[in-house]
Amino acid sequence: MSWRDLHCGDLRRDDIGRRVTVAGWADTRRDHGGLVFVDLRDHTGKVQLVVNPERAPDASAVAHEVRNEFVLQAVGEVVARAPEAVNPNLATGEVEIQVETLRILSRSTPLPFQVDDENVEETIRLRYRWLDLRGERMQRNLRLGHAAVAGIRKTMDELGFVDVWTPSMTRGTPEGARDFLVPVRLQPGRFFALAQSPQLFKQLCMVGGIDRYYQIATCWRDEDLRADRQFEFRQLDLELAFVERQEVLDVMEAAVVGAFEAVGREPPRRPFPHLRYDEAMARYGSDKPDLRFGLEIQDATAATRGAAFGVFATAPCVRYLVVPKAISRSEHARLEALAKEWGAKGLAQLSQVSKFLSEDELAALAVPEGSSALFVADAEEVVAHVLGLLRLHLARELDLIPGTDVFHWVVDFPLFKHDEETGDWTFMHHPFTAPMPGQEEWDESSPAGVRGQHYDLVWNGWELGSGSIRIHDVEVQERVFRTMGMPDEEARSKFGFLLDALAMGAPPHGGFAMGIERFVAQLAGEPDIRQIVAFPKVSSGSDPLTGAPTPMPPHVLAESGIAAIAQEDPATA
Ligand code: ASP
Repeated sequence: MSWRDLHCGDLRRDDIGRRVTVAGWADTRRDHGGLVFVDLRDHTGKVQLVVNPERAPDASAVAHEVRNEFVLQAVGEVVARAPEAVNPNLATGEVEIQVETLRILSRSTPLPFQVDDENVEETIRLRYRWLDLRGERMQRNLRLGHAAVAGIRKTMDELGFVDVWTPSMTRGTPEGARDFLVPVRLQPGRFFALAQSPQLFKQLCMVGGIDRYYQIATCWRDEDLRADRQFEFRQLDLELAFVERQEVLDVMEAAVVGAFEAVGREPPRRPFPHLRYDEAMARYGSDKPDLRFGLEIQDATAATRGAAFGVFATAPCVRYLVVPKAISRSEHARLEALAKEWGAKGLAQLSQVSKFLSEDELAALAVPEGSSALFVADAEEVVAHVLGLLRLHLARELDLIPGTDVFHWVVDFPLFKHDEETGDWTFMHHPFTAPMPGQEEWDESSPAGVRGQHYDLVWNGWELGSGSIRIHDVEVQERVFRTMGMPDEEARSKFGFLLDALAMGAPPHGGFAMGIERFVAQLAGEPDIRQIVAFPKVSSGSDPLTGAPTPMPPHVLAESGIAAIAQEDPATA
């Protein structure tokens, strides 16, 4: 006996007259005083079962016991629905099954929520994720993710990439986050780090002659959880030997197009446009600008140098946004409060400052009649940050964002940035990114002007991933470590294996990594990646389903050679 002949969503007019066995979940049950209707559901859709007490008294008795989410098997004939009962919203809506036998395969306790109810608090959805997964949204998203990854794998295979598995438990791979640590029973007091990415292993694959590596790699990063971040996530991780930047970008564009084609969507036009980092920061105030709309930031630094308004004349940078409407006093107050939250000292309106500007200065600002201008005067980074956020805020508020897709590259990042907390220089991407050709030597105490061969991929303002051409010269690698304040001995003790490998015939190489969940969330039109992940964690870092993380009994900790500073009682937590 087989459990079913076909899926619930498969039945059509052509099946009328067939005797079929179907199985699935009771989506709804309606008792019409004798006649019982059950919508039977599986991942393909729903089909209506009709149980008539006169024709099938046993099945009818069973049908009365059925509650939502019971698992049922039904045998019966496919019949046409009466014309007035045809449901045009259902693929199977022209037919129904006249049930002969009905079996309950599995029962359900009363439900915490109905499958497909959209008004359920997320923690509850995640606590009972198996119910949530049965709903249309998660079925669609997980299957979309599957198809996208299948399309990516196919493309990588066609392009000659080799899928190489690399370790999760390793020495820390510096990608700018904290590591998750794994204690080691056999060596108490020592820890593995969970790989923040396979970065160094993929580079070693290049030194090892693999030539083209890829992996759908799981990465672990101990960072605060956000809409686009979970502790663990997957990347399309790739690396190529003997490669220039453009070739890496071409491969990534092909992978994106492969995924779009695999899910049956019109792919974005290639090549994706390039935007230089400096330009992105100046015009959009972000290194991952949303280019679906204009609202570009304008510069007024030169135009206001001679202004009679002290703040404008002396600030290192004065920039503004032209907003295509008049802004009332109260709206301005609200926007200024936001700007202050984001770090500005103030947000000036043209009407407030125009009296301090000469006619030429005003003309240079080119603010059309009926529009307003909002100014921030401060250090360049503050101005970019605040106007970048304001640009996004206004675009949403004024409904300026069209439903198109824009993919683009951001290129030519600085190699180093200043770490405000430690006062040291640190890497912009990671310490293995190569400087631009011709910039291999720099003053290690002031590397601000050095550019890196680093590039990011952005889709509608979401950073999908980053990559770079890598350093394959030991001396340059050591110089980067020293610039970051890491003496040669420390670099040798932490990254001796990499330095050794680079010293034993490392080919020029480069690569990229794209976040799979971010990509699929965008494909699915979801606002956060939790809707793409089968079993995600909530923002506190907990898993509502299993209750993890949990405290551990002292003997388990002792076995791993660790002691918890503070912990709840494992028996009651
Ligand atoms: N390892 C980098 C990351 O995870 C990507 C790369 O440079 O290839 O962001």
